[in-house]
Amino acid sequence: MTLYLDANASEPLRPAARSAVLAALDLPGNPSSVHTAGRSARRLLDRARDQVVARFGPAEVVFTAGGTEANALAIRGLAAGRRVLVGATEHPAVLAAAPGATLLPVLPDGTLDLDALAGALHGPPALVCLMAANNETGVIHPLPDASTLCRWHGALLHVDAVQAAGRMPVSLEAFGADSLAISGHKLGGPKGAGALMLRPGLDLVPLVTGGGQERGRRGGTEPLPAIAGLGAAAEAADPAEATRLSVLRDAIEAGCHGAEVAGAGAPRLPNTTSLILPGHAAETQVIALDLAGMQVSAGAACSSGKVGRSHVLAAMGLAEGAIRVSLPWDAPPDAAERFVQAWSAMRDRLSRRVLAGAR
Ligand code: PLP
Repeated sequence: MTLYLDANASEPLRPAARSAVLAALDLPGNPSSVHTAGRSARRLLDRARDQVVARFGPAEVVFTAGGTEANALAIRGLAAGRRVLVGATEHPAVLAAAPGATLLPVLPDGTLDLDALAGALHGPPALVCLMAANNETGVIHPLPDASTLCRWHGALLHVDAVQAAGRMPVSLEAFGADSLAISGHKLGGPKGAGALMLRPGLDLVPLVTGGGQERGRRGGTEPLPAIAGLGAAAEAADPAEATRLSVLRDAIEAGCHGAEVAGAGAPRLPNTTSLILPGHAAETQVIALDLAGMQVSAGAACSSGKVGRSHVLAAMGLAEGAIRVSLPWDAPPDAAERFVQAWSAMRDRLSRRVLAGAR
């Protein structure tokens, strides 16, 4: 039996999200139409917006096609007249949307270097872009402290909460942020919808113009099935899952003897661990574990499927590659035991191969 342990790439669909998608697929109306069918579609859209606000706090919600677009909309839409400062361990969705941005270093445990942020904030007004939690290591940035510094210097703070949403408390208020990005498929919704949550009244230049949808913030007919699924997933994402998953994650870290954990000393997401097996390439380990039925990923898998050197681990001063184990919301109770068994067998096989090579 295979075990899916790559939730940070995409979470399995939640039953409530599946039902919401199916119900929306059967609605013919366009939410912008004024007739009865249009109004039914509009009600579904409003419901999804309410579900997102109920889970992630008051904000103006702009639906997008996913986390990448929500981040790009915030960064390109809020940057006018501002310098852009971006964390060194941000996701490529953020890094690529801010070419020429100043990179903010992290400490060896992967958390933001607050002194460096304080230094970088001196000067003209800035837009600061930071992730709530890292997709490779799960390391959580000290956002309330970063926010205090931003306020002091008149900077805006955009938070990429794509990995944090559903796994820890997330809201504009909790982070002291002006905007935050979330993604449906990382919450147990379908792929194809995300949202930018904005402090009301914020000026934002849209990326896509058109029919004035989303109050002119994002043109185009809303992808209702994906948005309805996102809303249902946000409602279903139970914060109590975190405790169950962190017990499994801790058991994996305790059981994988010989592994180093990237960011071990920092606050981290409950479902994520980044395991380094010194002397062994992450790609080799991912393939060996896949053959054993364990689906995990290497730190930095790009869309070509190749494994590149991780800019996240490099920013933390780590030279070795890591495998990422990220437990999904529906991880079975024996997930840790089964993973530790497969990982230990892999470690022993790889070590024997090294010894045989040395002879
Ligand atoms: N931000 C982070 C931290 C992510 O991990 C990802 C996806 O892996 C994204 C943004 C992009 O989200 P999406 O896949 O919805 O475009």
